[in-house]
Amino acid sequence: MGIRPRALALEAARRAPTALVPCPECAVVVGAAKLARHLDEVHGATDETHEVAELRGDDRAFVVPLVGFGGLGFVASFALGIALDRERLFAGIAAAILGTSLGLIGLAWFGGIRSRVLLAPETVELRYALGVLQRRVRLAGATIEIGSVTASRAPAGSNDVNVPHEEVRVGSYVRVSDGSATITFAHRGASLRKRWSDRGIRSGPKRSHVDVRLDTPALVVLEHALHAAGALQLREAPRDAS
Ligand SMILES: [Zn+2]
Repeated sequence: MGIRPRALALEAARRAPTALVPCPECAVVVGAAKLARHLDEVHGATDETHEVAELRGDDRAFVVPLVGFGGLGFVASFALGIALDRERLFAGIAAAILGTSLGLIGLAWFGGIRSRVLLAPETVELRYALGVLQRRVRLAGATIEIGSVTASRAPAGSNDVNVPHEEVRVGSYVRVSDGSATITFAHRGASLRKRWSDRGIRSGPKRSHVDVRLDTPALVVLEHALHAAGALQLREAPRDAS
């Protein structure tokens, strides 16, 4: 049971014929009255009942449990080795745990581990850490916070490790929370503010840790689910628009 992005967008357009609606396929914002034509002409005759149940993105949430698992596993193995008088064996196990954790952290860091975002009319669920962990947010009444994703990098052209790193903006995030669970989605394209009304959206701090990185068309599908649940509002078209 997924959601129907085209049907949701067209329904939104029918209800608010003077508003702007983000295209659920390409994220371009079009006048509500022109959405149906845009979908037909630009994206072909995809069935309106076409369902999207799952989005895929780069798993960034996995890093935190991996650091915990690697650190605790390493220490616990050494302690066990000493307690059982089998230091050598457990030193090997400790090294294997640390190596595996570091390998997976590296893989996750470079986008080699994907997580799944499951969409349903009432919830969005993140399945991460190779499907072992999950987090589910109820969409009705969800709060939305947006802001910049930053990373710390050595200044361009510098090979000196002692140079202080600078904070650079690498994208934007959309943080969706229902009060008990939160998922932070990162993306590279234009801010959500360009597609939806400011009403109800909070500006958050800069963040370097996010849970999952989506491409913009995938994010817009999620945004239509949030709009259908009342968490996002359409933008009004400027008065003088043709
Ligand atoms: Zn489009």
